[in-house]
Amino acid sequence: MNYSVDERGYYGEYGGAFIPEMMYGNIEELRQNYRSILDNPDFQREFAQLLKDYVGRPTPLYLAERLSAFHKSRIYLKREDLNHTGAHKINNTVGQILIARRLGKTRIIAETGAGQHGVATATVCALKGMKCVVYMGQLDIERQEPNVLRMKMLGAEVIPVLSGNMTLKDATNEAIRDWINNPEDTHYIIGSVVGPHPYPDLVTRLQSVISDEMKWQLKEQTGRESPDFIVACVGGGSNAAGAFYHYLDNENVRLIAVEASGKGIDSGESAATMVLGRPGIIHGSRTILMQDDDGQITEPYSISAGLDYPGVGPIHSFLYQSKRAVFDHVTDDEAMEAAFRLTHLEGIVPALESAHALAVLDRYKFGEDHVVVVNLSGRGDKDMSTYMRYMDRYAAS
Ligand SMILES: *Cc1c(COP(=O)(O)O)cnc(C)c1O
Repeated sequence: MNYSVDERGYYGEYGGAFIPEMMYGNIEELRQNYRSILDNPDFQREFAQLLKDYVGRPTPLYLAERLSAFHKSRIYLKREDLNHTGAHKINNTVGQILIARRLGKTRIIAETGAGQHGVATATVCALKGMKCVVYMGQLDIERQEPNVLRMKMLGAEVIPVLSGNMTLKDATNEAIRDWINNPEDTHYIIGSVVGPHPYPDLVTRLQSVISDEMKWQLKEQTGRESPDFIVACVGGGSNAAGAFYHYLDNENVRLIAVEASGKGIDSGESAATMVLGRPGIIHGSRTILMQDDDGQITEPYSISAGLDYPGVGPIHSFLYQSKRAVFDHVTDDEAMEAAFRLTHLEGIVPALESAHALAVLDRYKFGEDHVVVVNLSGRGDKDMSTYMRYMDRYAAS
């Protein structure tokens, strides 16, 4: 089985580029150039240097001893929470800003839901002195004030989107409109392994640094490059794609992808795409997504803003269909319990998204000698007000 994208931008039957005619020029320019830029030694040197000195990579691979004792196996945490700006998203934005410069662009646009990708984009724009415009639904602006303030302090222009539900989907539409109107000077930084080809492949490659490091770190600490299991949460799927990438062809490594089931699969308030969705087209690619009988995209829900997405990147639809990865799902309450457990056992407050990955550890009968890597995609600072509401229930005993 081949898990790489093909010439036409497909993973099996998923992917492609379903875009308006007016966007063709921008996408084609990126498609024709991204591989040669990524393979260029000068790009690789600059990217590696920034990941090291600016982002703080390599992120540690940490053997969580008390968590391991609790789950009766050997659990390693890949510490993406220790990256600059607090999550894996910066790996992608650093890479894309370097690509934008090599394409001669001077202006960056992005969409953001919870604001995490907006902050990561505004950060690299400040770093490189590029103009930055972030589209964000008005409802999200009201819900995510700290991130809006951060983006503004970083010098980004945050444009409120008042159409539709005033959330991520509407912000994405506005960003696309902007790009069509500004094809010459603007690059659009998409924040996950979603969107038309070549974005899913581009973002996967930029995030693949996660599994690249895992290989030598595991070798150093366990004597072999491969773990038995890798667990990662999936919103659009970029941290999971990066954590899986270098192990895709090694079927001995079992991959577990975790979606958010919100208040429960049947509650009507969920983001468990693989259970509730079917193939369709969203944001320019064919993938599995949540939709009603008329093909209208269903509004997703999760307590964690980063997992609150109605689709998944096309690579994940293929990993699901081919059974290369197991897709599981976790409710708000299960994620909350796992977040407090990690905090109490290890002194690490995880992002709510990452807590979904931790929550499935309860479900699998890992052997005592099994090496399990959990990709800890981000830290929990941004989620403190949510955690506070649950503090009484999960107070340390
Ligand atoms: C955005 C985000 C996610 C979800 O995005 P993916 O593309 O699925 O990785 C997960 N964890 C954190 C901390 C995030 O900020």
